[in-house]
Amino acid sequence: MNYQRVMGLEIHVELNTASKIFCACKNEVSREPNENICPTCMGYPGVLPRLNEKAVDFGLKAALALDCKVHRNNHMDRKHYFYPDLPKGYQITQAAKPLGIKGKLYLEKADKTIGIQRVHLEEDTGRMLHRGDTTEIDYNRSGVPLIEIVTAPDISNEMELLEFLEELKNLLAYLEISDLKMEEGSLRCDLNISVADQDQKEITPVMEVKNLNSFKGVLKAAFYEGQRLTEALEKKKELQKETRGWDQKKEKTVTLRRKEDSREYQYFIEPEILPLELSHRKIQNTRNRLPELPQKRRNRFKKHYGLPDYDAGILTKNPYVADFFEQAVLVYYAPKRISNWIMTQLLSEMAEGLQGFKDLALKPKNFGKLIALMEEGKIPKKIGEKVLKEILKTGEDPEIILKNRKLGPITDGAEIAEIVKDLLEKHGKAVEDYQQKPDKTLKFFMGKGMEKTEGRLEPQELRRVIKQELLLKNQGKKN
Ligand SMILES: [Zn+2]
Repeated sequence: MNYQRVMGLEIHVELNTASKIFCACKNEVSREPNENICPTCMGYPGVLPRLNEKAVDFGLKAALALDCKVHRNNHMDRKHYFYPDLPKGYQITQAAKPLGIKGKLYLEKADKTIGIQRVHLEEDTGRMLHRGDTTEIDYNRSGVPLIEIVTAPDISNEMELLEFLEELKNLLAYLEISDLKMEEGSLRCDLNISVADQDQKEITPVMEVKNLNSFKGVLKAAFYEGQRLTEALEKKKELQKETRGWDQKKEKTVTLRRKEDSREYQYFIEPEILPLELSHRKIQNTRNRLPELPQKRRNRFKKHYGLPDYDAGILTKNPYVADFFEQAVLVYYAPKRISNWIMTQLLSEMAEGLQGFKDLALKPKNFGKLIALMEEGKIPKKIGEKVLKEILKTGEDPEIILKNRKLGPITDGAEIAEIVKDLLEKHGKAVEDYQQKPDKTLKFFMGKGMEKTEGRLEPQELRRVIKQELLLKNQGKKN
């Protein structure tokens, strides 16, 4: 019997607005617990929440980039439940009328479109820190704006799962609405999964696996849960709808609770916040101002610059890297060479992260200049690498670095002779060996010369001078 997995994702994305969604508290990664809180985000009675317009703008961007239909008249709802990290006893979210519905995201490699059921705004909860027997609560995150993106159950294997997550993260990076740090919790995934037989006659209840904080975790949970559910179907074991967690250490899912029936949340319209009305003009303006999205840009990079699939994929993964590439190519048109240098020399120097490239001291203009110097044979690759290391720190013009830091090739004959004489002086024993082992000795001094000048000598010229000086020395001895 063939079984199929039916999977969907719920993704929570923290928006990087300056303040929280319903109050003026700072929205930032906390240093001290409970430093960014006020009566509103602590849920005190009698406070009046006010909706942060920037959060709406960011949510609207995401909804439009995911091809959603926008509910022009939407509103916020209260979702009631008790949990210590939710001081109000309800979460303000959008249930009945989310910001966006019926969107989609196309996966190129899988050649499949994944439906986006909804994109809605909501507030984040506080954070519980378990230390031994006690639990501490940090409310800094309480009221941080989120969007939740819910996909249709269109995903059927790990390949699609991974491509979807990468493509979505890529898209969100282009929108600049979140810092997308999974390890800090600004991008979190829940997986909905069930298993069905081929004709979908038998299907397990849907399991929700909560709070997966890495792509690897999502993939592993999908594999584990898929196997567990398949086994249950084969053995005709009765299962109940459940919310499960991912145990990272044991690499298995565990029961957290039976899935609450959605009626238990007792949703109703949030009475303190006016319904949100979005004008046609606002929607149109936001749509017009969306950047060129990653899929489109990737294909343009392949077509326009003749780059291989791999290069185009890597360069367009981060909008700042893609911008950097395009600006460097404007200075010196060698797309493939520039792409190679970005991939091998720059990305390896950089910690993964969006800010890395945005705040780089090295400007694309100077990077293009450096590539030109190497391409036109003015400096060897080895020196190019050194110059690059310098510019990464200082942001200077490569030609100025070559001049001031003595990184350029040594061409002055007297200087070369001086270097060689000095070496011969230091290694007298090797000089004596020259007549018995000329090749070995020559090689030895070549190595020493290159080491001393850090590759700044032209090899042929160095060989000539060493030979000449060795002969002079040995002749001197004979006489
Ligand atoms: Zn607050």
